[in-house]
Amino acid sequence: MTVRYDGLLMFSGGLDSTVATHLLKSQGLSLLGIHFVLPFYSGLGGEHLKIYSFADTLDLPLRIIEEGNEFFEMVKSPEFGFGKNANPCLDCRIHRLKVARVIMEETSASFIATGEVVGQRPKSQRLSCLHLIDKRTGLEGRLLRPLSAQLLDPTVPEQKGMVDRSRLQGWTGRSRQPQLAYARTYGLPHTAPAGGCLLTMVTSAQRYLQLVERYDDFTLEDFRLIAYGRHFMLDDRCRLVIARDDPENNAIEKIASADDLLFDCADIPGPMGIGRGVFSDDAVMTAASMVARYCRARSLPEARVKVYRQSGEERIVTVAPADPVFCESCRI
Ligand code: SF4
Repeated sequence: MTVRYDGLLMFSGGLDSTVATHLLKSQGLSLLGIHFVLPFYSGLGGEHLKIYSFADTLDLPLRIIEEGNEFFEMVKSPEFGFGKNANPCLDCRIHRLKVARVIMEETSASFIATGEVVGQRPKSQRLSCLHLIDKRTGLEGRLLRPLSAQLLDPTVPEQKGMVDRSRLQGWTGRSRQPQLAYARTYGLPHTAPAGGCLLTMVTSAQRYLQLVERYDDFTLEDFRLIAYGRHFMLDDRCRLVIARDDPENNAIEKIASADDLLFDCADIPGPMGIGRGVFSDDAVMTAASMVARYCRARSLPEARVKVYRQSGEERIVTVAPADPVFCESCRI
């Protein structure tokens, strides 16, 4: 049986969505939180315990959506372009609200609330952008922004008296002081959303843009890999990622497909490498020598590296650890 809610709330776990949750729940409204997990952290078998337990402290039932191909396609050609780095925030918000709209209909909810504040972000939270988002998502009159509601036209749930507009806020701009003061007054916990969006960060954004431009076969799985390891472009047909620690070894192993070449030092525990694309014999030896360079074999004259695919193929090659200057020359 589908549980019915008064409204949905886009819940990142940050300060704004936490305050939005409290503003609505303190009116006695029943809410379902919707939390999106970026593709970099999706499909790794994580149980998202931290965000579930945080939502639990606010008595907010939560549905988690792990992002995949639809998100990736949106990033490849955003209709409204990128923000400061490779973050297509406007397209992203529209995409996520469209996903949430389906859940709103499924749960017979009357509105979707967000923690957006008018003017907080230069591109996606300008008043004109908020109107555009309402239109493009087909949610006109159903998108409630409790933190800025008193500056905006009343939504349907406000007009119908379901939501008491006088108990919502009229905040605007980049300062978080009003939200912090509110959180202090009501003793609200808040946390930074896990992981953050890599697309807003200079290094990972540049890594993504360089890879997608150079490799025609760049896929969702490559996109997910940009969150992990050291990246090297070996030539126009193949690239290599070398983990930096154990958690990255695990993530890389989970992201690897049957076609990927995996590299692992045979005699000394160390970082794993994952090769994508078409590898000539020379490229295999180069990649193996680079993996040897980043493990404790780096000071040895040679090291044995296991080269294998998860489909079963396996061999051992013996290589001299690569020159660090060479490694840096193809690193991105
Ligand atoms: S910062 Fe990232 S996750 Fe957040 S709206 Fe922008 S693209 Fe989407």
